[in-house]
Amino acid sequence: MSEPLLTIRALNARYGAFQALFDVSFRVWRGECVALVGANGSGKSTLLKSIAGLIDTRPDAIRFLNEPIGNLSAEEVVKRGIALVPEGRKLFQSLTVEENLLMGAQARRSGPWTLERVYEFFPNIAERRNASGTSLSGGQQQMVAIGRALLSNPALLLCDEISLGLAPLVVRELYQRLPVIRAEGTAVVIVEQDISQAMVAADRLYCLRSGRIALEGTPGTLSRQSITEAYFGME
Ligand code: ATP
Repeated sequence: MSEPLLTIRALNARYGAFQALFDVSFRVWRGECVALVGANGSGKSTLLKSIAGLIDTRPDAIRFLNEPIGNLSAEEVVKRGIALVPEGRKLFQSLTVEENLLMGAQARRSGPWTLERVYEFFPNIAERRNASGTSLSGGQQQMVAIGRALLSNPALLLCDEISLGLAPLVVRELYQRLPVIRAEGTAVVIVEQDISQAMVAADRLYCLRSGRIALEGTPGTLSRQSITEAYFGME
């Protein structure tokens, strides 16, 4: 089997004296969709932020395309081909939809995603291209956040709780778009609170508990009960 796109080995992450991740190993292959589940505070966002260069780690703890990236800045990580859709979307509320999208084009690699392609992909936001971030619905804001990440043409897209606070219909619409993103060869990591949703969308799944990987497997081999037990720490 070929080398994984992303390999994380024995990753520890800290916020000052507080250790949030312990000895985490995690891999993603090209074009794969990997779900990361776990209770509040288990370290899911910390893992994504570590990959995205927002938290300092040992250089060799995170390897992407066979090179160490653990010590790179967030900007360098985007240039290497990793884009993060952060929890809470983090749009610039005073900027228009288009200006927000173009922020993602600053560290642009060559690839299929252009501004026009993003508008075709999310027609709802094409109609609102000159509107300010504040005037959008939660679902539209999430589309802008995903569009902004896609504009860097990532090989790996990290999505932190894209469903949070959205109506089920909007969540379904967003998840229906994932196969199109993957069809371009982009691997996707989704942090998802909803285990059923994660099991449907992902090829593989990791469960974090108290900063440690408690379970790893494919939706076909893991039962919902084993995931729930790993999630809540029942032995
Ligand atoms: P949630 O689902 O609530 O977003 P999570 O699984 O993403 O949770 P993290 O946000 O990664 O969890 O947090 C992991 C641990 O690190 C928690 O105990 C949290 O309180 C702590 N933590 C997160 N951010 C910081 C920070 N900036 N400073 C100190 N501790 C933090």
